Amino acid sequence: MNRTERLTVALDERRYDILVGEDLVAQAGRHLRPLAEGRRVMIVSDETVAGLHLGALERALADARIDARAFVVPAGEASKDFATLQHLCERLLEAGIDRGTLLLAFGGGVVGDLTGFAAAILLRGIDFVQVPTTLLAQVDSSVGGKTGIDTPQGKNLVGAFHQPRLVLADTGILASLPRREMLAGYAEVVKYGLLGDAGFFHWLEGHGHSLVEGEPNALRHAVLTACRAKAAVVAADERETGQRALLNLGHTFAHALEAECGYGDDLLHGEAVAIGMTLAFELSAQLGLCPAEDADRVRRHLAAVDLPTGFERLGGRAWSAGRLIEHMRRDKKASGGQPAFVLARRIGEAFVSRDVAEADLVSLLTEAIAQTAPPLDLAGA
Ligand code: NAD
Repeated sequence: MNRTERLTVALDERRYDILVGEDLVAQAGRHLRPLAEGRRVMIVSDETVAGLHLGALERALADARIDARAFVVPAGEASKDFATLQHLCERLLEAGIDRGTLLLAFGGGVVGDLTGFAAAILLRGIDFVQVPTTLLAQVDSSVGGKTGIDTPQGKNLVGAFHQPRLVLADTGILASLPRREMLAGYAEVVKYGLLGDAGFFHWLEGHGHSLVEGEPNALRHAVLTACRAKAAVVAADERETGQRALLNLGHTFAHALEAECGYGDDLLHGEAVAIGMTLAFELSAQLGLCPAEDADRVRRHLAAVDLPTGFERLGGRAWSAGRLIEHMRRDKKASGGQPAFVLARRIGEAFVSRDVAEADLVSLLTEAIAQTAPPLDLAGA
C-alpha cells in the first residue's frame, strides 16, 4: 500500500508538516507547489545523492513548473565546514537569491545541517525545505530545526535553530542507501523506543530485521513513529531547555567515542549511538536505577541487527576511560565540566542526570574496555 501520511510539528507561526511516503520525490512538485509558487528553488545536494536521485527530483519540479537550480557539495561529514558553507553561500548569492528564494536540502544529515544553516544566515534568514535521503535524516536530523557545521574544536559547535517549512521523507529512496548507513539510522530509530515508548521497542524487536532490509511497511511505520515522537518533543521544547535533552540518549558516550575515532568512516554517528545507548543502560543498571534484564535486552537487540554494542568492533585502538571522560567533560551539553547523561528507569522511561559520579563512569568504561581485550592464548603459552 503506497499512501502518504502527514504529521505536523506544532510550533505556532513556524508550524510545518512532515510527509512520509514511498514515492515523495516523484511527487515533490505537487507537494512543494503551494510553497514554491512564484519563488525560485535552489536545491543543495551531495555528489552521491545527486548522482543517484537528482534527475528524478528535477523532473518532478519541472513537471510542476517550479524553477529550480542545483548546487552539489562533496559527500561526507567534511562538507559540514566553514569552507563549504562559505563556498555554498557565495555561489547562492552569485546566482541572485533573494528573500523569497527557497532552499531545498536533498541528502542526508550533512546536507540538511549545512543547507539549513546557510538558510538561517543568508539574507538574515530564508526558507528551506528538507528532503532527507538517509534513515538517520528521516527519523532525526531533518525534523526540529537544529542546523550547523563542525569546526576543528568539535562537531556542530557553530549553528542556529532554523525550522524547515516542510519535510518530505521518501522512504522509497532508502533503497539505494548502503546497509551500514541504514543500520546507523536504525540506531536512532531504536532510541525513540528506549527513551519513551516501550511498546515501539517491543515492535522493533520483532520487526527490526525486516526494517533494515528495507521492507516498506516496516520502514513507514518506523519513520512515522520516530517523526511523531520527535515532532512532539520539539513542539514542547524547541530550544532544548528540558525534555528535548532526552533525545541525547547514548550521545554523551557516542560523542566521546566519535571524538576519539576522528569523525570518519571508522565509526559512524549511529554506530557510536548504538554503543552509547548500550552503555547508558548498563550504567543505569550498575547504579541500581534500571533492571539488569532491560540493559541485556537493549544489548541483545542492537547486536541482533548487527550494530556494535561495545568497543570490540572499533579496531586496535588503545582505549582509555580517562580520555573518554575528558571528552565528555568538554561536550557542549556539559555544564561546568559535569557531563549530562540520559539514564533509564526501564526501557521506555529515560531521564536526564547530571549527578553521575566519576568513579561510576571509570568502573563502567574500564569494564567495557576490558571486555574487548583478546583472550589470553594459554594453550600456546
Ligand atoms: P550523511 O549525510 O553523510 O549521509 C551518509 C552517506 O550516505 C553519504 O555518503 C551520502 O552521500 C549517502 N547517501 C545519502 N542518501 C543516500 C541514498 N538515498 N542512497 C545512497 N547513498 C545515500 O550522513 P547522515 O548519517 O545522514 O547524517 C549525519 C549528520 O547528521 C551528522 O553531521 C550529524 O551531526 C547530523 N545530525 C544532525 C541532527 C540534527 O538534529 N540536526 C541530528 C542527528 C544527526
